[in-house]
Formats: sequence, structure tokens, C-alpha cells
Amino acid sequence: MQCNCCHAAVAEGVAKCPACGFPVLVAGDSSPEYTKMLEDFRSRKRAQIIIEMQIYSYEVSGSGVTESGTSWHTVGTAAALKPGEILWSDLECEPLTSDRSFTVRLRIQNGGMPREQAVTFSPDHAVSRSCIGLSGDDAFTFRLAVGSKDDYILSDAVRMLS
Ligand SMILES: [Zn+2]
Repeated sequence: MQCNCCHAAVAEGVAKCPACGFPVLVAGDSSPEYTKMLEDFRSRKRAQIIIEMQIYSYEVSGSGVTESGTSWHTVGTAAALKPGEILWSDLECEPLTSDRSFTVRLRIQNGGMPREQAVTFSPDHAVSRSCIGLSGDDAFTFRLAVGSKDDYILSDAVRMLS
């Protein structure tokens, strides 16, 4: 079975979806009441979701450049994402070259245990300016975008929930 709300796989006989908490009904119907309940639940859940990226800071000293720590920066919120649109953040990374893969670490706050996930890109072409953005996929998935408005690369789809 599949959750009607977030499309996670759900075992038979379970009352609530383990990923999003939506009640698992034997059959979701397409009545206006059911559709409204589903939409309300999705928007309440999406309102809790914040997508963050791990940023490394460096220190330059006499002996060279050393990593001085990491911190999490917000890339965007689920509530602001629309399918097929890219929401650009003020974060940037180094320009991408097509001969090297590139990994970023994301943390997704979703009202429960934060979820961490590494996202790796293998760019098919070089990208000279590398802003970080989020592309809405469906209600609970997104893709990370790296590049600029006119030229960017998208990651594989990332789930917001567990
Ligand atoms: Zn679900």
C-alpha cells in the first residue's frame, strides 16, 4: 500500500503512515471532504519543514587554510516551494566543473527527528556561477539546484520526510 498523502510505502494493517502520520484509510475517496482533509494535512505538515545545508568555514593562518567548523544554514522552506519552480537562496558554492562530482550535506527539519542526507551531483556540464536553490517536485520531495537562473543542475529527488 501507499500513503495517499506522501506516497510512502505503508504496511497492511497500520493505522497511520510512519513517514507523515496521515491516517491510512482502506480506500481514499475523491469526495470534497476527503480531498480537503488531505490538503489541510499536507499544508500543516509542509509548514513545519525547513531544509538546511551544512556550510564549512575556513581559517587562513601562517600554516595554510584549515577547516574551522561547520554550521547549518537554511536553504528554504517546504511551504515556499511550488512544483517545477526554483527558489534560490542566498547561499553559494564553488563553481562546478563537469569532471568532478560534488556532495553537499542537507538536514531536513520536519517537526520530528531531523533527517540528514548527503546529495551528490555529477554535473554533465560546467556551471560558472553556483547559487544554491530548491526545486519543488511534489508535496514532500524536492531537488537541490546548483547554478544560476539561466543555467543550473538539479539533483535527484530528495524526500522531506523519513
Ligand atoms: Zn504518508
